[in-house]
Amino acid sequence: MDDVFVHPSDSGPLTIPDVRTSAGHTPKTLLDLGTNECRWPVGEATGIDQLFCASRAVKGKPYCQAHYQRSIR
Ligand SMILES: [Zn+2]
Repeated sequence: MDDVFVHPSDSGPLTIPDVRTSAGHTPKTLLDLGTNECRWPVGEATGIDQLFCASRAVKGKPYCQAHYQRSIR
C-alpha cells in the first residue's frame, strides 16, 4: 500500500508580501510616520496595521513625489 498523500509543507518559510516602495523605503504605520513622510497607504493591511509609504514627502504635501503625482490624476 503506497502512501501517496502529499502534505503541504507547514515548516517552510512563509511568503512575506513585498510592501516596499519603489524608493526602497520601509513602510511605516501611522504612529511611526513623521510629518515629512508620505502618507500614501501601501500593502494589504487596514486599520491600525495599515502601512504608509513613508518616503520623504514633497514640501507642503502629504505625499512623496511619486505618490503626489498619482494623487492629482
Ligand atoms: Zn509615497
